[in-house]
Amino acid sequence: MPLKLAIVGRPNVGKSTLFNRLAGKKLAIVDDQPGVTRDRRYASGSLGDLELELIDTAGFEDVDDSSLEARMRAQTEAAIEEADVSLFVFDSREGVTALDEVFAAILRKRDKPVIVAANKAEGKAGEAGAGEAFRLGLGEPIPISGEHGEGMAELYAALLAFE
Ligand code: GDP
Ligand code: MG
Repeated sequence: MPLKLAIVGRPNVGKSTLFNRLAGKKLAIVDDQPGVTRDRRYASGSLGDLELELIDTAGFEDVDDSSLEARMRAQTEAAIEEADVSLFVFDSREGVTALDEVFAAILRKRDKPVIVAANKAEGKAGEAGAGEAFRLGLGEPIPISGEHGEGMAELYAALLAFE
């Protein structure tokens, strides 16, 4: 059975880029699932020999500000609930922002496995920001670059623990 992995975090941290990388050429079978699940995207994928069922949580460019946070919260909670493991992604170049803290709080409230990914960390660019993530209380962040494919071996090792 594939491991169900929810990719969560605030907009613009690189969730969809990572989703696309892990989905690889199987992306063609992504189901848009209109209606209740339109804030989330699904695809089969893999990392090494690890089969994944990926859940991407969408951006909210089309939503007015008043409903934004509630909607992000609801879909993040739904994705976490569906998944075996959640991957909390933040932008290690930006460091931990107030909105990152909101998402981290949602994850801490659930008694479900979480892996923290310090994204955009190619070329050690995010070293300082990655360090900040310890204070989120979600475990040691794994430096990755979804765009450049760095840190995938370390991510694989972390995911294996939940297979
Ligand atoms: P999402 O809103 O969390 O789904 O983020 P996206 O995947 O749409 O990416 C947001 C922006 O970050 C885009 O401009 C990406 O090209 C960029 N990005 C994504 N991953 C990386 C990365 O690993 N390194 C760098 N430097 N930029 C990235
Ligand atoms: Mg996205």
